Amino acid sequence: MARLSLETAIRFLKGVGERREEAFRRLGVATVEDFLYHVPRRYLDATRVTPVARVRVGDDVTCVGVVEATRVLPTRAGLRIFHAVLRDDSGRLECAWPGQAFLERQIRAGQRLLVSGPVRHYHGRQLAPREFVILDDGDEGSASGSGGSPGAAARPEGGSRAPEGRAGVVVPIYPATEGLSHRQIRRLAEQHVSNLLSLVVDPLDDTLRAELPDLASALGGLHQPSSLDEAEVGRRRLAFDELLEQQLVFARARALAKRPRSGIAFGLKRTLTTELRKVLPFSLTTGQRASVREIVADMTASERMHRLLLGDVGSGKTVVALFAMLLAAENGYQAALMAPTELLAEQHAATLTRLLAPLGIRPELLIGRLGSAERRAALVRVGDGGARLVVGTHALIQEDVAFRRLGLVVIDEQHRFGVEQRATLIEKGEAPDVLLLSATPIPRSLALARFGDLDVTILHGRPAGRQPVRTAVRTEQAREGVYAFLEQECRAGRQGYVVYPVIEESERADLRAATTAHAQLTERFSGLTVGIVHGRQPSEERERTMRAFRDGEVALLVATTVIEVGIDVPNATVMVIEHGERFGLAQLHQLRGRVGRGHDASHCILLAPHGPGRERLRAFAATEDGFRIAELDLAERGFGELAGTRQSGAPDLKFVDLVRDLDLLERARAVAARVIARDPGLTAPEHRAIRERLLRRHARAVELFRVG
Ligand code: ADP
Ligand code: MG
Repeated sequence: MARLSLETAIRFLKGVGERREEAFRRLGVATVEDFLYHVPRRYLDATRVTPVARVRVGDDVTCVGVVEATRVLPTRAGLRIFHAVLRDDSGRLECAWPGQAFLERQIRAGQRLLVSGPVRHYHGRQLAPREFVILDDGDEGSASGSGGSPGAAARPEGGSRAPEGRAGVVVPIYPATEGLSHRQIRRLAEQHVSNLLSLVVDPLDDTLRAELPDLASALGGLHQPSSLDEAEVGRRRLAFDELLEQQLVFARARALAKRPRSGIAFGLKRTLTTELRKVLPFSLTTGQRASVREIVADMTASERMHRLLLGDVGSGKTVVALFAMLLAAENGYQAALMAPTELLAEQHAATLTRLLAPLGIRPELLIGRLGSAERRAALVRVGDGGARLVVGTHALIQEDVAFRRLGLVVIDEQHRFGVEQRATLIEKGEAPDVLLLSATPIPRSLALARFGDLDVTILHGRPAGRQPVRTAVRTEQAREGVYAFLEQECRAGRQGYVVYPVIEESERADLRAATTAHAQLTERFSGLTVGIVHGRQPSEERERTMRAFRDGEVALLVATTVIEVGIDVPNATVMVIEHGERFGLAQLHQLRGRVGRGHDASHCILLAPHGPGRERLRAFAATEDGFRIAELDLAERGFGELAGTRQSGAPDLKFVDLVRDLDLLERARAVAARVIARDPGLTAPEHRAIRERLLRRHARAVELFRVG
């Protein structure tokens, strides 16, 4: 057979062949290299194997032995129990799996088995395995000799780098598939991995990989670790590789986006911005001041700004953005602020009009609702530069909207716009600065992974004097009491929300859907106006109801999550969330941010059944810190889903666990920045291997690095 290389098809690996090729394909393994990266999903730590003679009733143990006999016994209750007798050097132990007679087809005499679970008293000692692993089939392995002394597995010195047919101290469990068991994969790995590792060339030299092990040792440690720690060190190396690739792509994208602008150089004029500071009805929070400083530094630098301002709901992002807009304005440029809904745009326009009145600046509002004469007049002012600040919706990106001198684009709730929409507005200026706003607090790790190609400013804290929102978790039994409270608040002139996870009964039969509830609540709260908004309504109808709610004409608003974004009704003091258990924590936080915006005490009541999900709701109720909640959310949902890598054409972060790997991410980001600054196209010889890997694995890298 020809010599193997990493690109060799997996079927040429001895013991694979055409028979197992298809099964490997299902596991995503096509080549020898894929095989090396097909690492164990987890490990059983057999370092604490108990000799069966020492097993005591009441212990929870792990044992390794040869199966001496098996049988299935029926009980009087009609349950069929699978039994196996396990033997090691020290003695024999009975294992029993109630109701799992099917194991008869898997566990057979002669096999070496690892079992772990509690030991109980039943005609003597009996182990009830929670888990078992067939270490080898006595008939095919070279079990003779080593198989006869299974206790060896318990001795670290005997188990490291396990030879064929003997368990290592740490038993790797591989992702398996039909026709290819984890055992078979383990045997192949034992047979081949150490040879294959000699083919591995590390694309990272010592300086790039910092203190992490070289690639071959990392892979070796993952396949055949002598301790769980060794496997973990190996995982971290592969995680670092993934993060570094991702951050290299981001660093390159950032460098390209920030190329020196043609012409615009904002100066620190301190005219409008200083005046605004004087007339603001409040002083900026520490967080706001820090954010303004970062943005101003960025705007006055010679490169374009490409920045994300990330702040919790109510943290006061609008004012921060306003400083940026005035900086552009005092330099003779126009600034545009785009919001996802008319209501939000109107709200921003009203805020800006109020704050800027003393400065003699009137923001222009450009939304779809304008009459045609109004619109024409607005377009003229935008076109001749008379409008210095322009606030609007998608109406801003219509073809006939032309700015005279657009220097700054601010996009509120940026995730609600597509890439194209944002680009369309940006292209209405000549390389304007860009500030994106997001009210979704996320941990820094996630921000770096998801928005790595932007600079990120995190706005911490919130204005003082805001009412805390008291959050309670209640069951169905409390419903009447909750309604009574809701009614009392509304009758006192305040307003409330009732939020549902779905729209129609048919979508999830077990949910009390918003539409049904709207009818019921209208009846229950006779004399109060109950409105409804949901995503299936035409948007005009939805906005009309929202507006009525804002103006106090609707007391109680039944809604789906469409109210998450932006709406600011300080008079609303209660939010009831039905089926709280169905919402993600971050989403609950967004919803809760709709109340507590005025002077009155506010409440958020989560209705949820008893059950395991309640703990997380209690944790949610205990804090109002969006970044803290985002961390809980991250821990709950896992990094991959939240990072949204799939949409960005980047490979999955298979090995990364960002709850644990934040340090790796920071390191990868620093290394990537250093590398790209020195060698923007990754063309230096020492970067060739990384470049090749990137181009192979990362769709976006192909565009970004092609130009070299
Ligand atoms: P968000 O970050 O959610 O967009 P906003 O910009 O809408 O928050 O601000 C929320 C509210 O807080 C607004 O009513 C705003 O006027 C007010 N606000 C902003 N900054 C301050 C401050 N420094 N002190 C007091 N109130 C502030
Ligand atoms: Mg806002």
